[in-house]
Amino acid sequence: KSPSMPDLLANLNPEQHAAVTLPDEPALILAGAGSGKTRVLTTRIAWLIQTGQVSPNGILAVTFTNKAAKEMVARLQAMMPINTRGMWIGTFHGLCNRMLRAHYRDAALPQTFQILDMADQLSAVKRLMKALNVDDEKYPPKSVVNFINNAKEQGLRPQQVEATDSFNRKLVELYEAYDAQCQREGVVDFAELLLRCYELLSMSAPLRAHYQARFRHILVDEFQDTNRLQYAWLKMLAGTQAAVFAVGDDDQSIYAFRGANVGNMADFEREFRVQHLIKLEQNYRSHGHILDSANTLIANNARRLGKNLRTDAGHGEPVRVYEAATDTQEANFIVEEIRALINQGHARSEMAVLYRSNAQSRVIEHTLVGAGLPYRVYGGLRFFERQEVKHALAYLRLIDNPNDDTAFVRVVNFPTRGIGARSLEQLADVARLHNCSMAAAVPYTTGKAGSSLGAFSRLIDRMRAETLPLSLPETVDYVIRESGLVAHYETEREGEDRLENLQELINAAAAFVGEEGYGLNAPARVIAMAPNASRALEIDADGLQVVDADAPVADSMTPLAGFLSHASLEAGDNQAQAGQDAVQLMTIHAAKGLEFTAVFITGLEEGLFPHENSALEQDGLEEERRLMYVAITRAKERLYLSFTQSRMLHGQTRYNVRSRFFDELPPESLKWLTPKTEPGARWGGRSDNAGWGRDWFGRSGGERSDDGGRGESGRRGADEAYTGNTPLPAYADKQRAADTGFKVGQAVFHTKFGEGTITALEGTGGDARAQVNFRRNGQKWLALSIAKLQPIED
Ligand code: ATP
Ligand code: MG
Repeated sequence: KSPSMPDLLANLNPEQHAAVTLPDEPALILAGAGSGKTRVLTTRIAWLIQTGQVSPNGILAVTFTNKAAKEMVARLQAMMPINTRGMWIGTFHGLCNRMLRAHYRDAALPQTFQILDMADQLSAVKRLMKALNVDDEKYPPKSVVNFINNAKEQGLRPQQVEATDSFNRKLVELYEAYDAQCQREGVVDFAELLLRCYELLSMSAPLRAHYQARFRHILVDEFQDTNRLQYAWLKMLAGTQAAVFAVGDDDQSIYAFRGANVGNMADFEREFRVQHLIKLEQNYRSHGHILDSANTLIANNARRLGKNLRTDAGHGEPVRVYEAATDTQEANFIVEEIRALINQGHARSEMAVLYRSNAQSRVIEHTLVGAGLPYRVYGGLRFFERQEVKHALAYLRLIDNPNDDTAFVRVVNFPTRGIGARSLEQLADVARLHNCSMAAAVPYTTGKAGSSLGAFSRLIDRMRAETLPLSLPETVDYVIRESGLVAHYETEREGEDRLENLQELINAAAAFVGEEGYGLNAPARVIAMAPNASRALEIDADGLQVVDADAPVADSMTPLAGFLSHASLEAGDNQAQAGQDAVQLMTIHAAKGLEFTAVFITGLEEGLFPHENSALEQDGLEEERRLMYVAITRAKERLYLSFTQSRMLHGQTRYNVRSRFFDELPPESLKWLTPKTEPGARWGGRSDNAGWGRDWFGRSGGERSDDGGRGESGRRGADEAYTGNTPLPAYADKQRAADTGFKVGQAVFHTKFGEGTITALEGTGGDARAQVNFRRNGQKWLALSIAKLQPIED
């Protein structure tokens, strides 16, 4: 080690030091929030390289979000002058994508395969079910998607799924048909990225040998949230040689609903014969009252591996608690506090507003806009998810891969070209008959529909030919014009924002191919694309041509394909506001691993947090508590907890009692800014309808961000599932609903859920509730004093 090299180990405590410098053997670092797990992991990478134990090429590091991957690369670059290009640092999805791109043939994928995001996947399933004439009331598409993803996350192909009854057999059948459809169209969903990559490695011995020999060190952050398939993938990649270094915190396991398995930690210890288990107990992030709150709260969980955190930082300020009458008042309070903090000299980006449910952000955003405070939402409607951007991307996808039916359906009649739903159905029939994509079926269609469709095909062909010599930003520019999108939005009344976003897409493309090559400006390439050439490696055993994934980009992916992957995988970054100092808004799920000077945890109300879908059972409640633990431990110096008496959500006013979590915090660490009132009798009679809000697979459809790692979660579905059980405090009686006038069996209409039939009634007056089986939205409990149910006469 030369004297000019920075001393990476200087500021570590003894346990951290030991962890960073462990020998090349499997290790598990189990430690609470803010104890330096991520810092240890990053420092270890730098130390391994600095001491010459491994070259950057020999490192594979898995993080939970793209944001975290970016930060890790940035920290490494700050620690030492290394070339991060050869390193594989990214999310599971990003890394699998990179590998599949390099070995697309072996993975039986087209070179230009596209990635379906969650919305794309849902629409693909809907399209399939329509084609197969499947009843979408008996089989809600969202549940079918859950079923498919569940199976994939357990590593099961349709043939391997056990179906015990006709209902499940149908689901398996749909899974099989969906897989066939994806294969035909050359698209993969998020779960498929992982499963396909796993299968690739398990089936190809030379490939496996190659990567096992290459990755000497595999490091995994947030290990507690890996699922079975990810664990199996890691194990396969590690082989018998690699030193796997896993860091995690069982108390922060918050993705069980998506198949994450804390049991992986115990399995890892056993199966890898872990000799080095290190605990870190010194917290460097939070002041005392904040840390005490986190420790006291999480002690209410029964199932823990057991560890504690201490800090030298002193008590600091107490945790502030605020009760608001309405959500608007809550938002006003937050904005006032933020303003005050800014006046004290804090950067806006050092302040985070966290919520349990995406829908809560609207009121806060509105208030921030009113106050003229820039903010950025993570995990909300991401830039690449906006309608106009998705339209533009669909054209680009068709240029890259005409067989992508999801893209085809999205824009074949946008802007309108007189191609109606009937024509499309006919086209879909023809495609099925010939077992080809819709684009390929166009020549078989006749009549007026045939000529409109023909014109569309020619448009795409022309775009493909004419963009061939263009650069990526030029291609995007060309496509948004030639497609008619720009002209369309120019005529639309509220089209200005959309035009700006299309313009921003050109900028995003320019940034993506930026001259810096693989700098941080285009971070997605760290994970999504093969970096610059090292050597292409060939092994001819078994007749397989193995190309090292570090081969030149041109061999594995065009800039357009790279950009499209980036668009599908990029999580949470709202590019339109990138670079600006902004207040941070996100769900708690999306806040994992991050830290801020001041944190606001909002909506601490029974039913919202803990979420009503989860509160029904022990596991669910413990996961909610872990989520609260994650939220509290994001704060460094100042923490605010707020709740409201009433809240508008999904068009309904909900009357709330404060969260039970307040009773689980140390009173001496709290400072009530509003008088602490005794909550009315807590509404607890929920056991009567266990099962509400769950899908058929027993998973609660709670509002969880994705993203978490790239929003790959049940965000959308959850939004709608939310509205059901409104907790009814005593004062809802004022709302009077003396005689409900409803009876079981009656047909009713609800403005949001549509038509349904009352299946049960209970309670009286303000407590009266009806269980309604909605034709399109399934079973829900509604408070009659709040929900506007209209009787339907027949
Ligand atoms: P989480 O569980 O939330 O992901 P973590 O265990 O990964 O937390 P880090 O984010 O690595 O914790 O560290 C928390 C904070 O403490 C960071 O700001 C980090 O720089 C700082 N920190 C960690 N170790 C030390 C140390 N030895 N000296 C000073 N600061 C430290
Ligand atoms: Mg961390």
